[in-house]
Amino acid sequence: MIVVLVISILAMVAVPAWQYARQRTQARACEANRTKMNDAKAQWMAATGAVPADEPTMADLVPTYIKEIPRCPRNGTYTIGNGNTRVSCSVHGQ
Ligand SMILES: [Zn+2]
Repeated sequence: MIVVLVISILAMVAVPAWQYARQRTQARACEANRTKMNDAKAQWMAATGAVPADEPTMADLVPTYIKEIPRCPRNGTYTIGNGNTRVSCSVHGQ
C-alpha cells in the first residue's frame, strides 16, 4: 500500500513537469520552423526582387528555399505574411 502511495506521489510531481517540458520543446520546434520560413521568405524576396508588400505562398518557398512544408508540433497554422511581417503560428504566435 505504501509503495502505491509513493508511486502516485512521484507521478503527481513528474507528470506536470513532463507536460511543461513537452510544451516548451514544441514551442521551440515551432519557433525554429518560423525562423526557417522567415529566412526562406527573405531569400525569396531577394531572388525575385519582390517589394515588402508582396506575399509569397508556401509554393513559392517549398521546395526552392525550404525542403518541405514545416508542420507546427501542436497543429497550428502558419501565416506567411508579406515582407513587412514575420511568419506567425495560430498556436504559438510570432
Ligand atoms: Zn506553432
